[in-house]
Amino acid sequence: MTLQLIMLGPPGAGKGTQAGKLADHFDIPHISTGQILRNNKDMETPYGTPRSYIEDGNLVPDEMMIEILEKRLQEDDTDDGYILDGFPRTRPQAVSLADITDIDAVIYLRTSEENILKRLTGRRTCEDCGRTYHIEMNPPPDDDQCESCGGAIVQRADDRESVVRDRLEEYQEKTKPLIEFYREKGTLLEIDGNPSIEEVWTQLKDRLDDTLDNVDTT
Ligand code: AMP
Repeated sequence: MTLQLIMLGPPGAGKGTQAGKLADHFDIPHISTGQILRNNKDMETPYGTPRSYIEDGNLVPDEMMIEILEKRLQEDDTDDGYILDGFPRTRPQAVSLADITDIDAVIYLRTSEENILKRLTGRRTCEDCGRTYHIEMNPPPDDDQCESCGGAIVQRADDRESVVRDRLEEYQEKTKPLIEFYREKGTLLEIDGNPSIEEVWTQLKDRLDDTLDNVDTT
């Protein structure tokens, strides 16, 4: 069985948190393009460094992103499938992905703007593995060392309020239209992303189990 999933939704909707749970549950890799870029922030490319886009709240160019993703999907750990978190974010990315692979389900976490802002500004992230915490809802340990890998837990530069607004604009303009793109393909699974982490997870697991019962994932 292989399982190819996409997490879709605005920044701060909880895509990373739920993708991590899905990865543990199905034993498939959680591929966060944001984390790949942060781990290679100063990599020189013909389009400039990832840092120059991320820290201004802009999307990196499609050409750069598609190349990075294609390379990542060729690694051995993707043989049984994967969960994409943060890709695709534009129509050209979605079209390129459709050219190289089939997607079983696209999980769209529909979340209110109020919750998004609260989650993003209170979010703290492990610099090394990308595991996320929240100062109120899921506080980091007192020593600010990640429970998964021991890395330093910090506030991402782009989780500051001024940058968050630019990221949300990019989402509205470039990523939100993908909801319709996948709805038309019949793969969209719309989940209420507003309740607690555990409530969203329960809902997501039930809906996904129902969907996969009707999908051939061999
Ligand atoms: P994320 O961790 O998913 O919130 O991504 C952090 C930042 O990385 C985004 O604000 C973008 O600057 C960049 N990024 C991540 N994934 C993509 C993508 N698929 N296309 C373009 N830029 C991306």
